[in-house]
Amino acid sequence: MLQAFNGVLVMVKSPHPSLVDLTGQRFGKLTVIKRADDIVTKSGKKLVAWVCKCDCGKKCVIRSTNLKSGNTTSCGCVAKKIRRTKRDTPNKNAEDFIGRQFGVLTIEKEIKPYRDPKGNKRRRFRCKCYCGKYKDVRIDELTNGFVVSCGCLSARDFERLKEIVR
Ligand SMILES: [Zn+2]
Ligand SMILES: [Zn+2]
Repeated sequence: MLQAFNGVLVMVKSPHPSLVDLTGQRFGKLTVIKRADDIVTKSGKKLVAWVCKCDCGKKCVIRSTNLKSGNTTSCGCVAKKIRRTKRDTPNKNAEDFIGRQFGVLTIEKEIKPYRDPKGNKRRRFRCKCYCGKYKDVRIDELTNGFVVSCGCLSARDFERLKEIVR
């Protein structure tokens, strides 16, 4: 890069030959304000970072590579929003459970939730047992291994069966 010394333009080696000035550029919700102090990794490597302003008003320091690769497009407020939406819609990830096997039960679909005496909702699934019968089971009973079949097989029987199969 060119720099002026006593009115004379001289070529000086840039300390960061690959450094691209990102000032003023936008990446998602982030606008780059200025260069931040380099981030030094555990291995001692210096990484170029930028002070950015997010559309939500927060300022943050983001690494060049994360900006350019599109990894980081906000101060973190977007990720938080997505996480919040997920929690608000518990049925959204019902698909995660469909087809999964617990004991000899296979989850077919989600059904009306169970309400415990305290009024808390618990997710329930209609499961098909290996014997062909259906059983509606609460998710916690499935995940903690309390219910492994429609009733035709006890948890102990199932453990024994697993031993045999193995
Ligand atoms: Zn933000
Ligand atoms: Zn059964």
